[in-house]
Formats: sequence, C-alpha cells, structure tokens
Amino acid sequence: MKDEKGLLPAVIERILVWYRGSRRSMPWRDDPSPYHVWLSEIMLQQTRIEAAAPCYRRFLGELPTVEALAACGEEKLMKLWQGLGYYSRARNLKKAAILTVEKYGGKLPDEASELRKLPGVGAYTAGAIASIAFGKPEPAVDGNVMRVLSRLFASEEDVLDPRVRRDAEEALRAVYPAGRDAADLTQGLMELGEVICIPNGVPLCDRCPLRTLCEAEKRGAQNELPKRSPKKERRIEEKTVLILTDGRRFALQKRAETGLLAGLWELPSFPGRLTAEETGRLLSEQGIAWDGIRPAGEAVHLFTHVEWRMTGYWIRLSGLPPAGLVFPDGETLFRDYAVPSAFRRYLDFIRKEFNEYGFSPSGGKGGVDPT
Ligand code: SF4
Repeated sequence: MKDEKGLLPAVIERILVWYRGSRRSMPWRDDPSPYHVWLSEIMLQQTRIEAAAPCYRRFLGELPTVEALAACGEEKLMKLWQGLGYYSRARNLKKAAILTVEKYGGKLPDEASELRKLPGVGAYTAGAIASIAFGKPEPAVDGNVMRVLSRLFASEEDVLDPRVRRDAEEALRAVYPAGRDAADLTQGLMELGEVICIPNGVPLCDRCPLRTLCEAEKRGAQNELPKRSPKKERRIEEKTVLILTDGRRFALQKRAETGLLAGLWELPSFPGRLTAEETGRLLSEQGIAWDGIRPAGEAVHLFTHVEWRMTGYWIRLSGLPPAGLVFPDGETLFRDYAVPSAFRRYLDFIRKEFNEYGFSPSGGKGGVDPT
C-alpha cells in the first residue's frame, strides 16, 4: 500500500494535533517505560483494553521489573496471565525477559531490529516499543493502522497480504517523525483506528481529523474497505469435558508442552460429544469408579484456527481420580491453577455448586447409574 498522492505528511500533522487533544487515559500511558510499553503491547495483541487494564496493573504489582519477570515461576506467571488468553504470549515474555537480563543488563534495546530478536516481538511490537518508549522514527503497523491507511488511500489491496503491510510500513517510515512526535503518532494512529475509523460498524467520519484528506470518504467507499482475503474456516473439535469430583476436590490435568494452550491446566475430557451413558461407560472401561453423573451444559470456544464444541458432565467419583491427574480442592483450584477461559462454562458450574453446596458431595443428583 503506497502513498501515491503524498498524503502522509499532512495526515501526521493532523493526527498529532487530534491525539494530543483527545487521548484516552490508560494505565500504561502514565509511565511509558520500555518495560511498560512492551508489556502493554503484548497484552493488547489479542485482548481488549478494558480486559487488559486490570491484568496489567496486577501483573506489574507482582512483577514490577524485567528482572522480576525473568525470575518468575511458571505457575505464578500463568496465574497472572489468567483472563488474557493466548498463554504463549506470557511464556515468550518471560523468555524475552531472561534474554534481556542476560544480554542487555535488564534494559530493552532501543533499536527495532534488536527488539525483533526477542521472543514474541514482531515488527509491530518492535515498532511500538521503539517509537513510544524510545522516540525512534519507527512505525507500528497493526490491523487498526492498516484499516485507516486502506480507507485513507481508498486502496483495493488485501490488507492481510504481508507485502501490502510492508509497503505501508515503508511509506510511513519514510516520513515518520522522531522524539515525542514518534510516540504520539504511533499511539494516535492506533487510537484513531480504535475509536473513529472503527473496524465494525460505520466509521465516524464526521469526527475524523483526516476527513478532508480521505479518499474513501470522498468516494463514499468507507464501508467497502479494507479489502481482505477470505479467512480459512476453523477446524471443529468436539469434546466431552469431565468435572471429576469427590464433591470437594476436582481433577485437573496438564496439557502437552507444545501446541494449543501448551502446558496449562485443564479439566480432563474425552474426544467427541458423548451422552451421559456413553461417558459413564467409557469411565468404567478405563477403571474410573464413579457413582453419579449429570449434565454440566454445552459450550463453544473459538480459537484462531480451531473451534471447540463441548458438552460437559459433573461426575461424582467413588474412588480416586486417574493416575497422573492433580486433585485440588475447589478453593485451591481457583486460587492456584490457571485454567484457560475455554473452560469458563464448567468453572462457573463448579463455582455455582460451591455457592449452593459448599463443595459437599452432590454429584449424584438426577444422575444415571454407573455401568
Ligand atoms: S474519514 Fe472516515 S474512513 Fe476516512 S479515515 Fe476518517 S473515519 Fe476512516
């Protein structure tokens, strides 16, 4: 995506004036140190601002420095990341923190090319840290910025095409300011995409500082842009989630160290969506003693490339849970184990049982008989 009409210098001036007059208050904007900018940008990659803000404060309260992050244990890190999803981001943060301590004495490098060598830091995040925290003339081009540019230039190019994105970065880099202007421009461009040139619904052109420059606005084409290649369909995985409990404790297992939700704790499950009878039969075949089973509801969870369709059962064990699983009580589970939000439906079910029954044995109510 190229600036064929040379609009960008005027765009930059207007965005700086607009941003300085209307910037929203956010916790990471109060003290934009490199660590704070880095942490906030990683948190915001797949999480809304409202959800990220309390996690950001909690995280910094526990891990106020790069050194503290580098030294943080895995379980604590996962717990601090709970609610944000995409846990590989937290693992990469820690790996990058260790590298920063070992190689740069605990201070993040100020060049985008060096920042990109850190795990989890791509072109966008490197540009954001370099410009916001260090005032370097480096653009940070994400989906928000691509949308604004696509409409501004009335570009028909596919904004998901890496070449188109690289061209947009080059066009911006050629005119990017330095110092405080760099920091404000990066944040202003993002903010314009978030609150004015919005992704869903009609953009608020009558409040946009770029209105008289914008080609899409002139042509009335805002709602047809940006162009995107169609997304690949998600693979559907069906599973039967098991709340295995003795009425007080709950079985959890650790996921594999690689792949989706790597290394996190989860409720055990069987593949496929099984009936209560099928579930009970399978448990018995595996030597798991139980004496009550009842439905815990249906749930769907969307990942980037996979969709989980789940059905769940509350299963009262009459013996020990299978080997290899941990069996914390309800309070310990919620306090110490980071179970991904994909299981929220069933964690809520456990919480509700706790509120109603205080984790006394209740699994057999309305259940089917063991087979
Ligand atoms: S004028 Fe409208 S379409 Fe153009 S950049 Fe502004 S909000 Fe987006």
